[in-house]
Amino acid sequence: MDRRTFTQSITLGTTAAVVTPNLALSCAMPASSDKKLGIALVGLGSYSTYQLAPALQDTQHCYLAGIVTGTPNKKQIWKEKYAIPEKNCYDYENFDSIKNNPDIDIVYVVLPNSMHADFCIRAAKAGKHVICEKPMAMNVEECDAILAACKKAKVKLGMGYRLHSEPYTQEIKRLIKEKTFGEVRYVNAEAAYYSGGNPNQWRLNKALSGGGALVNMGVYSIQSLIYGTGENPIAVCAQEYSTRPEYFKDTDETITAQFKFKSGAVGHMMTSHNINANKLHVNCSNGWFVLEPANNYGPLSGITSNGTKFNFPHESQQKLQMDDFAKHVLYNAPNLAPGEMGRRDMVIVEAIYRSIAKGGSWQVLSLGA
Ligand code: NAD
Repeated sequence: MDRRTFTQSITLGTTAAVVTPNLALSCAMPASSDKKLGIALVGLGSYSTYQLAPALQDTQHCYLAGIVTGTPNKKQIWKEKYAIPEKNCYDYENFDSIKNNPDIDIVYVVLPNSMHADFCIRAAKAGKHVICEKPMAMNVEECDAILAACKKAKVKLGMGYRLHSEPYTQEIKRLIKEKTFGEVRYVNAEAAYYSGGNPNQWRLNKALSGGGALVNMGVYSIQSLIYGTGENPIAVCAQEYSTRPEYFKDTDETITAQFKFKSGAVGHMMTSHNINANKLHVNCSNGWFVLEPANNYGPLSGITSNGTKFNFPHESQQKLQMDDFAKHVLYNAPNLAPGEMGRRDMVIVEAIYRSIAKGGSWQVLSLGA
């Protein structure tokens, strides 16, 4: 299965009672306004092409105003398809002149991971708000540099963590916050897909990706564990497995990790480029709930131990995510996935790699509540 087929949903096949949308957790709607922010997508690869650009045709608070690409052919295709004026088209070299373009309010960096820090920082210096795809950068040091640049330029920074704007995930957060099933005792998060494609793709090249499954799908597992407990972990230990070293020459194939939380909750995660998995299971003192699938483009599916099946209307997660960020910029609505969250996840990623390098030893995390 490749990344695109991974997005197909896995259903639980259970008939049960139904929960309806929890509007209380949705981003607060501001007073209505006609103002739409212009977004420029940087990097016109598969995520921009098949998810972000189509979603931007339906967004209410932002629109596709510009593109930044290193491929002249793509520029022509996108200009025509989305009626983007020539003055809003940039390449990687002239990108900095975007600062003089009032049509562009937000720069969305959708490049290989090694390019995130450079383009996020250049976007901030150009005075543009920034959305950065996951993982935030190659390491915590780069995350700090992005955060500092955005702070200095007084621009907003959001992560492309689409699930925070997604109703099934928001329902998980509500169940945790309201302790509907009591105290969380155990959380299991799995995010993985089988990679069998081009062995020269950037995701398998550490210099471009920063790592393998962990920095790709593993970020979803880390996120799931945190919103599945409602707290940051205090320690982690991890193991790495390699069964196809001839294919995964440079990057991690499969990683498992165990987490301790201050409340006493225990977490387990698995991520892989060799296994198909897509699940969040939360076990509490008085019951459990599951999302499966938990991480793909939806619709997700969820059920609780009392037989209640989640049932929320499906909308593009990317549409919801970009509108939520635009509302944050326009109306100071909550930033559901701020840059600090991306940095926190990179701290955990680094601790996982450190644990593996040290034979699976526990690594203490000082992330606060
Ligand atoms: P992709 O390979 O399809 O596209 C990468 C783009 O970067 C291409 O347009 C390519 O031309 C350009 N590029 C510039 N320099 C390059 C280089 N040196 N090597 C390779 N490509 C180069 O990748 P993608 O799937 O669109 O992923 C882009 C980013 O988006 C990654 O950070 C990825 O983690 C993230 N992503 C996030 C989600 C999500 O659900 N949030 C989904 C997919 C991808």
